[in-house]
Amino acid sequence: MEHKYEKYCHNCGAVIDKMAEICPKCGVRQPINQVPPPVVSMNLNPHWLITVLLCGFLGVFGAHRFYNEHYGTAVLQLLTGGGLGIWYIIDFIMIITGNFRDKNGNYIKMN
Ligand SMILES: [Zn+2]
Repeated sequence: MEHKYEKYCHNCGAVIDKMAEICPKCGVRQPINQVPPPVVSMNLNPHWLITVLLCGFLGVFGAHRFYNEHYGTAVLQLLTGGGLGIWYIIDFIMIITGNFRDKNGNYIKMN
């Protein structure tokens, strides 16, 4: 059980103020309050994530361009093996850096 403004004494288990440095009951100094580790919240844009994954795994087939409905260049990539393996790498970097556009011409951002 974790109370919002209370904690249990490290030594005797008495309920004491959360900010207390020394237990009023047994007089034992409390360990320094541990700061909880920062929660890594990326809030990734799922559209961006899918585009990254498609490009990373199926980029040689132009999958990320099909997904974003760039059909002309998608077919071109499909026929050329992702632009001889260079073009899709460039696309991948563009996607990672947020410079790849969706079907509406808007940049696809990471979050
Ligand atoms: Zn105590």
